[in-house]
Amino acid sequence: MADNEKNIYINMYDNETDKAFTKSLENMVKQLVACSMPLNFHIEALKCQSIIMRTKLIRQLKHRKEHRGKKIKEVDITIEDFIKIIPLEEYKEIWKENYESYIKKLEEAVRETAGDILLFNNKPIDARFHPACGGSTENSENVDGNVIQYLRKVLCSYCQDSPYSLNYQDIPIEKIEEKLDVKLTSNHVLRDIPIYNMIEDIVRDKQGRVIKVRIGEKEFSGREIVELLDINSTRFGWQPQIIRFFSIGKGDGLGLCQYGANAMAEKGMSAEQILKYYYTGVEIKAIRGSCINKPLKGKLIMVDPAHGGKGGEGHTGRQGLEEKDINLSISLYLEKELQDLGAKVFLTRNEDKIVHLEDRARMANDIMPNFFISIHQNYFSHPSKSGTEIYYFKGDMAAKELAKEIMKALTEDLKTLDKGIKPADFFLLRSVIVSSIHVEVVYISNPIEETMLMDADFRKKAAKSIAKGLVNFYRYV
Ligand SMILES: [Zn+2]
Ligand SMILES: [Zn+2]
Repeated sequence: MADNEKNIYINMYDNETDKAFTKSLENMVKQLVACSMPLNFHIEALKCQSIIMRTKLIRQLKHRKEHRGKKIKEVDITIEDFIKIIPLEEYKEIWKENYESYIKKLEEAVRETAGDILLFNNKPIDARFHPACGGSTENSENVDGNVIQYLRKVLCSYCQDSPYSLNYQDIPIEKIEEKLDVKLTSNHVLRDIPIYNMIEDIVRDKQGRVIKVRIGEKEFSGREIVELLDINSTRFGWQPQIIRFFSIGKGDGLGLCQYGANAMAEKGMSAEQILKYYYTGVEIKAIRGSCINKPLKGKLIMVDPAHGGKGGEGHTGRQGLEEKDINLSISLYLEKELQDLGAKVFLTRNEDKIVHLEDRARMANDIMPNFFISIHQNYFSHPSKSGTEIYYFKGDMAAKELAKEIMKALTEDLKTLDKGIKPADFFLLRSVIVSSIHVEVVYISNPIEETMLMDADFRKKAAKSIAKGLVNFYRYV
């Protein structure tokens, strides 16, 4: 896995606390594994759970992006669908003396599967799991009504030693009546109603006394029952008070059986073998760049380094820095950034030469990019004026939105002053028929900002912020 793919950050929203926060994907996976599988399980089972929880996160992330109708600003996923997560430190109270070893194991399971998710037809699967299946998992249509090709029934004898292999619960009739909101016949005597396989073949005399009755395999006279069970009279009936319910397994039976996975791991099977056993036909792959790291895939962006050549109308700083050179430098960095994010990029110039405004507009109108972005540095007669300014063609709401995102990114990352986004009627903004903006990064006329512009890292950072603004724009439109 490439380095840049290891640190994927996601913006999250917690419904319960109404808080938004940013978290690294891998740390999130750790927390989700901690609260969804016992940590005394085998490391390979914990690896399975890590891959499952990561798949759930990525699937939700993709799902959100595909439903752009809702404008959920700043949020990639919400954690409403997940089990209540708590910070790892709080497990000290729960795991006690096992805390250190469990954390070590958890970190190993997550690290060794870093980036891995479950795919079917190249899409993250709905990675369902349950504590114990009790003999076989389920076909999805028997639970949810939908046929899902990778959620097929598989036999599983592995969970037979789980605490859920066979359970019974004794539930009083009144409780059943209350929970199910039904009336059972508990308050009158089941005088002559047999309970099959228990009390049958009841014969009474005219006075209602039991002459004979079969209980279990044996036939008894009424008198024998009275003596053996110490009942007051042969005029008796019966009345069930408690029903014992039996259950095998725990959960809905879809997908991975956790206790089964643990038993398979203890038999020496790998996480991959286990996952492929419970999820039919899936693949395990590291998250591909295109999954979330290429958010500008398919976008055409035209970057316009303003001015250029001898006698262009660009500004010159008090220390001699030329605007045209800075514009070109930032634009070239921006080209690289945008390409890395998956966009196709065109430049109106890639060297120090004169390109007339009409030609720049013609290039844009031939290519029809998604956005046309002019890069400038500002100038004012008084040296103290500073900050970032962005113009958009009046009435172009998409350009205005993009300007907002870029302004936010630039002022936050470069710590420059927000001088506002403004509608304008400049020649290029007017002549370019696609959405276009004009970015004045900082004031070349301000010696402090001129000095900042001399630093290649600053110019690179500026390019990165503009690219970030574009990503944020596309994330929510
Ligand atoms: Zn099972
Ligand atoms: Zn300029």
